[in-house]
Amino acid sequence: MKISNSVRNNLLLYYSIIFLVFTSLILTYLYKREKEYRVSTLNDELYNITIIVNNFIKSNSIYDLGNYEITDSLVKLLPQTNLRITIIDSTGNILYDSAFRNWKSMENHSDRPEIKTSLYADYGAIIRKSETTGQPYYYYAVNFGNYFIRAAVTYDINIVNFLKAKKLFLLIVFLSFLAIWTVLLFITSRFGESITKLKDFTLKIGNNEEFDFNTKFPKNEIGTIGEEILRIYKNLLRTKNDLINEKEKLFNHLNALDEGIAFFSSDKNKIFNNDHFIKLMNMISGELQIFSSGFFDIPEFFAVKEFIGKYSDIEITQSDLPKMEYQVTKDGRFFRVQCVIFYDKSFEVILSDITKIGKSKLIKQQMTSNIAHELKTPVSSVKGYIETLLNDPGIEPKKQKYFLEKALAQTDRLTGLINDISILNRIEEAGSSFQPEKLKVKKVVKEVRDNFKSAIEARNMKVEINIGDDISVKGNKSLLLSIFQNLLENAINYAGDNTTIRILVYNEDKKFYHFSFSDDGVGIPQEHINRVFERFYRVDSGRSRKSGGTGLGLSIVKNAILLHKGDILVRNKVGGGTEFLFSLPKN
Ligand code: ADP
Repeated sequence: MKISNSVRNNLLLYYSIIFLVFTSLILTYLYKREKEYRVSTLNDELYNITIIVNNFIKSNSIYDLGNYEITDSLVKLLPQTNLRITIIDSTGNILYDSAFRNWKSMENHSDRPEIKTSLYADYGAIIRKSETTGQPYYYYAVNFGNYFIRAAVTYDINIVNFLKAKKLFLLIVFLSFLAIWTVLLFITSRFGESITKLKDFTLKIGNNEEFDFNTKFPKNEIGTIGEEILRIYKNLLRTKNDLINEKEKLFNHLNALDEGIAFFSSDKNKIFNNDHFIKLMNMISGELQIFSSGFFDIPEFFAVKEFIGKYSDIEITQSDLPKMEYQVTKDGRFFRVQCVIFYDKSFEVILSDITKIGKSKLIKQQMTSNIAHELKTPVSSVKGYIETLLNDPGIEPKKQKYFLEKALAQTDRLTGLINDISILNRIEEAGSSFQPEKLKVKKVVKEVRDNFKSAIEARNMKVEINIGDDISVKGNKSLLLSIFQNLLENAINYAGDNTTIRILVYNEDKKFYHFSFSDDGVGIPQEHINRVFERFYRVDSGRSRKSGGTGLGLSIVKNAILLHKGDILVRNKVGGGTEFLFSLPKN
């Protein structure tokens, strides 16, 4: 409460000073008035005395007789005490003085100011020290022609008497001062704490110091204002913090982007850029700059500069922001440059490396032409068989049957191809929307084996399944079926007769089961082994076609495993045969 007292003390001090100045002014004015009044009263009184003395001189023929000392008898009769009467002749010599008995030795008075003044005015009056007695007097002199009569009283209109006379007035002044002071004390103690807390708040906030926001203001008008200000400030602070957080989030997000992004003010000064922006800027320019300010000097971006310049004098509406986009090729890579101008003429530039997009476009194109090629073969075969049958109605039934069987085999192949393409497409489209379920692997594998039972028996092959009953993975049933079906089909088609297929879990970790799918057949020639997962890749296309292969089987297997976040590799076993090692996520 130290500060609170200081506010109160300050207020009281200001008030006291103002009050004192005001009171002194009134007192000075009153003192002056009083003095003037007293002087004029005194003048009247002293004038009357001079007249009385003059009448006395005349009626007693003192002037003619020269016996001025008899004036004593008159002076004694006069009621005023401290009265001094002096009679001076027209040349300034003293004829009589009631206070100084040895008046004949007194010096000439013609140079006394009151005497001099009375020569041309009705009277001469002055307050001064008597040169004869050394006392202060109020002198009043009148010129009666042959002589001057001077009446003087000891000067006593001093401040002490005045103050004595104004005792009541001073008491009133003092009491009113006390009353106002008490009221002021009440007001300052009522509002002092609120003002102090407000002052404390503004000072601390202004100096960026800590402030306790739980501070409670007293319940009064200023206190209410203080609480309201505090509430508004708290809201402001919260909004500011929210904004800072959002900005931080936005910047983090922008920094995590694969694209390079930069914001510039209307006068081309950088507001923000992420690290990618500098990286891509340097990749495009082939230089090594560390600041985005060099952006406008790079020839590849002159188009952006021109675009900005074009809009410098054109008003931009928020609903229709000008955008531009173009591509730059550098060292075999493709880049996209985009620019958007905002309504306040600030603008953003986005740089993206689209080489990958370009590549995947190329792969898609190859895939489409492969598919077209693969489809063409069986379709034209079927067409050939049907045309032959139609053109030659006399064809013998045995041959007819042969052609029809061939056509059927080709349509089966076509169905297989379309099936595989649609599975691949489904895997690609599934992406993140793929919904996994809990699947018992042994059950799935057995189901696949049973489907191929006759083919396995026909080749005199064996299938050994070594997977625990409780091993379950998180996956999609039809994709899991596809994986094992393609692997089993391949083994049946390529491993050779009298071989053994082994399916087992060889390892497990926190997240995955690791499977081995192997046969002890012919294996894959080493020069082809790294390409077997490519689409439409076949080691021996004649053999593969004959066995109904599309070249998509292992591609489906790999993509399905990747979609499950697992991986797959293939190797030739030491003793002969092919082994696929792959992982699938635990449930
Ligand atoms: P296809 O439809 O031709 O079987 P895949 O993508 O399934 O296509 O397989 C690619 C090639 O890998 C096959 O043409 C085949 O030559 C070879 N291959 C796959 N599995 C085996 C295996 N178990 N043993 C030997 N070769 C295999």
